[in-house]
Amino acid sequence: MQRSRSKYFERNGKSYLLVELDQKPNLDHIETVSSSRDQLYLDWELADTRKARPQQRRLFFALLNDIADCFVVPQDFLKAMFYGQYREYTNGNEISLSDTTESSVSDANVLLDLVIDFMFTWRVPFKQGYELLPREQEYYQYQCCRHRRCMVCGRERSDINHVDTVGSGRDRNNLDHTQLRVNCLCREHHTEWHKIGPTAFGKKYHIPVTGIRLDEETLRKIGVRGNYRGETNGKSIN
Ligand SMILES: [Zn+2]
Ligand SMILES: [Zn+2]
Repeated sequence: MQRSRSKYFERNGKSYLLVELDQKPNLDHIETVSSSRDQLYLDWELADTRKARPQQRRLFFALLNDIADCFVVPQDFLKAMFYGQYREYTNGNEISLSDTTESSVSDANVLLDLVIDFMFTWRVPFKQGYELLPREQEYYQYQCCRHRRCMVCGRERSDINHVDTVGSGRDRNNLDHTQLRVNCLCREHHTEWHKIGPTAFGKKYHIPVTGIRLDEETLRKIGVRGNYRGETNGKSIN
């Protein structure tokens, strides 16, 4: 993920974002992936440049405590490890969650994303961090799908649930899954979702029910097959 300054404007009833780049991009690579040197697709996300929040700091240390408990290692060691990972992930940026931090909400989310990914990967139980899990954040929902964890209770091997209704006449295997919004729910919560409906479900568990879109690589990794830009086959999701 890279951050760039952008300018928004409207012209002739259309909306545009003009992106300013720090350096000249690799045009050969752009041509390889988009078959053009001057027309390309971006997956973008609005950066929250406000100062990192105290609740992000609370979540970070609660999660570190859970990991420290699980592996019996000092919290300081884990903090240094994740700050190091952050540096590597962002090509040399520093992060801090102290009161005087210069880091933004988005920066802190990148750090928390690394921690949650680690915990899902190594099956570290969420104890202190459980109540604080950022269920409303897209990155959290993404990690749940990637690791097939229920976004409500964290149960493993959960289902990928379609948030967008798929028209009954359409062949599910022929859908472009990158265009459909999903979330991840265990069998029990998935059943409840369909029973009481998304609105009531979201209210009950205080979670957003809009779902997220997954990229092709993630869909393949978690075994959702279907049509990715032209290719067909495989099992569907419900
Ligand atoms: Zn669940
Ligand atoms: Zn479903």
